[in-house]
Amino acid sequence: MNVLLAGGAGYIGSHTCVELLEAGHSVVVADNYSNSCPEALRRVEEITGKTVRAYEADVCDSEAVERIFSENDIDAVIHFAGLKAVGESVEKPLLYYRNNIDSTLTLLEAMARHNVTRFIFSSSATVYGTPKEVPLVETMPTGTPTNPYGRTKLMMEQILTDTQYANPAMSIVILRYFNPIGAHKSGRIGEDPNGIPNNLMPFITQVAAGRLERLGIFGDDYPTRDGTGVRDYIHVVDLAKGHVKAIEYSEAHTGTEIINLGTGTGYSVLEIVKTFERVNHLTIPYVIKPRRAGDIAECFANAEKAEKVLGWKAELGLEEMCFDSWNWQSHNVNGYK
Ligand code: NAD
Ligand code: UDP
Repeated sequence: MNVLLAGGAGYIGSHTCVELLEAGHSVVVADNYSNSCPEALRRVEEITGKTVRAYEADVCDSEAVERIFSENDIDAVIHFAGLKAVGESVEKPLLYYRNNIDSTLTLLEAMARHNVTRFIFSSSATVYGTPKEVPLVETMPTGTPTNPYGRTKLMMEQILTDTQYANPAMSIVILRYFNPIGAHKSGRIGEDPNGIPNNLMPFITQVAAGRLERLGIFGDDYPTRDGTGVRDYIHVVDLAKGHVKAIEYSEAHTGTEIINLGTGTGYSVLEIVKTFERVNHLTIPYVIKPRRAGDIAECFANAEKAEKVLGWKAELGLEEMCFDSWNWQSHNVNGYK
């Protein structure tokens, strides 16, 4: 299959490129490199020994997207191309609504013109809002996300559902990711955030690398095992493999399917820190800080639907996630730079 990956040079996209190529598919990447760089795709080629057809393009630009569809025989689209920094989305809501929603509409319009009917979408557990209970099941009502980033994801889920309803030949698979961490075993590709990381694992690896002094743990008074927040961390390679399964599933599927991609197990911030220290023989200095606005106590998936529908299940455990995250950061102290 020939798969277009919008945002395919980013953290999850680059790992998905590797897994798709290794499963025998071809990939075309469209990325404006607003949060990534061409070097990531060069390394995907190095890991796989295969070619990535890459376009430097903004997928909100319908002429650029039209050219990509005209020059390639695309079978399916995976849409990773979004802005994802929660805090920035509060400060620059219009940028987030414009980029995340326009990119989705532009891709769907080009697909309609070229009769491409299969679309895989990067959604997020954030659409559940503040959970009334965990684990989170896909049939639970979505909540009220606490920031514009989360609201774009919820709006796009609705746009996709409406688009499929109007064109029943379409297959839409909405993947709700939990917390991807880790990196490819080779240590050649990984997460490389701009500026000071917002997310826990890149913050920890940058403390370990000496780029940051100490980790701030946001709250130790949550109603959890040790008072720190609990999340469902998933190895990015497992997540990438979930996309290969979703692409293959969409071949014989029509409709809209919403699927959690998580492990089903939650770990606390302190458990992550302790596991990272143990497997990598390092110490991570930390201080307890006040709770971060908008954070919830606990969030983890019921991961049964992915196994039943896609035949996919996360295989890599927390130790591998911590080991691979550090393997990437320690060999690339300044990321791709
Ligand atoms: P990322 O920033 O590493 O990757 C996104 C890629 O899209 C980047 O390469 C960026 O340059 C590109 N991009 C953004 N806007 C674009 C545009 N208009 N045109 C072309 N390219 C554009 O992020 P990621 O962690 O790989 O996330 C991928 C997707 O998954 C995003 O939609 C994100 O919201 C979603 N998601 C991520 C997480 C997470 O924790 N990483 C969790 C849930 C959902
Ligand atoms: N966290 C933290 N310090 C940080 C970043 C995150 O204590 O510097 C905590 C955060 O409060 C949450 C967990 O780590 O409990 C995961 O946060 P992240 O931002 O990685 O993902 P989220 O689930 O919030 O999207």
